Amino acid sequence: MNLVLDLDGLDALIRVLRDDGRVVVGPVLRDNAITLAELDSAADLPGGWGVEIGAGHYRVRKRDDAAVFGHSAGPQSWKRFLHPPRRVLMSSDGNEFRTAQDTAPDYAFLGVRACDLAAIAKLRQVVGGPAPFVIAAQCTEPGELCFCASMGCGPAAGPGYDVALTERIDSGGHRFLAAAGTVEGTRLLDRLPGRAATQEDITLAAQDVDAAAQRMGRAMPEVDLRDLLAANRDSAHWEAVAERCLTCGNCTMVCPTCFCVSVEDTTDLDGNAERSQRWASCFEIDFSYLHGGAVRTSGAARYRQWMTHKLGTWRDQFGTSGCVGCGRCIAWCPAGIDITEEAAALAETTQLGGE
Ligand code: SF4
Ligand code: SF4
Repeated sequence: MNLVLDLDGLDALIRVLRDDGRVVVGPVLRDNAITLAELDSAADLPGGWGVEIGAGHYRVRKRDDAAVFGHSAGPQSWKRFLHPPRRVLMSSDGNEFRTAQDTAPDYAFLGVRACDLAAIAKLRQVVGGPAPFVIAAQCTEPGELCFCASMGCGPAAGPGYDVALTERIDSGGHRFLAAAGTVEGTRLLDRLPGRAATQEDITLAAQDVDAAAQRMGRAMPEVDLRDLLAANRDSAHWEAVAERCLTCGNCTMVCPTCFCVSVEDTTDLDGNAERSQRWASCFEIDFSYLHGGAVRTSGAARYRQWMTHKLGTWRDQFGTSGCVGCGRCIAWCPAGIDITEEAAALAETTQLGGE
């Protein structure tokens, strides 16, 4: 089913989801960035705001139009809702222990781009939990750091969405082609004010998404990345990266698929105790602490571990790559280290079998 919604229709979509008891989360302009937060209405969306993005660089900028999904990946991903940065596992007041009961809201995610839709599927393979209702935003305007096309994750939204929206602003007005991807999505569209899409609406939307594939700012080298990383275990290039890498872990925090956690116990002087789980990073020195010492003591070893897992051994573990090409790790690396450039540098000096 395909429907064309205007901004009032988008507002109605949010209202209907909220009336159904869902917590609707989507992009908002906050703290000079496009972040993710609960939406009350379409007015909360970052209408007219885009981003200027580069390696180690992110700025919001005013757009020439009122597009609400005219921005590429921001500093947050949907990970924080499916896999919270900190979660209490159990606690005690000194008399009794309480095991935390997870009561995740019934989420509806609005404005999920193709890369993040793929990331949600990868993350849920690990963390599980209830599936959110997903309203994807087809990508028609990739950013300078996007490379989802070369990772096979976009720009067209793959499977997993309930409704996909394609935003278009032209002489015909500001509108969204809404396509249902599931029965629940169809039921939602049935309750919204809008007009039936014409073949022209569908063709124009498809053309916009196809054109986006040609405008990706980055691309991964066209080699088997798993073989590339396996062949470069002892490469001198890791030391060259380590000269720039601060081992700060920003790349793992912003990555929508990095899932590692650490568990810690804390107590206070009143006799309360808490066991909590928090995001951890393979760039932390004690991440690989084993019986008396850390295994990966150098920055070179830690960067190699991250990139090898992300692009190589993730495939052995889960059957797919751990990278969806969102570009966040490049934007939010204080040293501007670019995973596509590092992969290209390795590929330049590596002769892989069968090539
Ligand atoms: S490795 Fe970088 S580009 Fe790939 S999914 Fe993670 S943050 Fe995005
Ligand atoms: S690659 Fe960049 S973001 Fe990642 S740990 Fe190194 S300096 Fe930090």
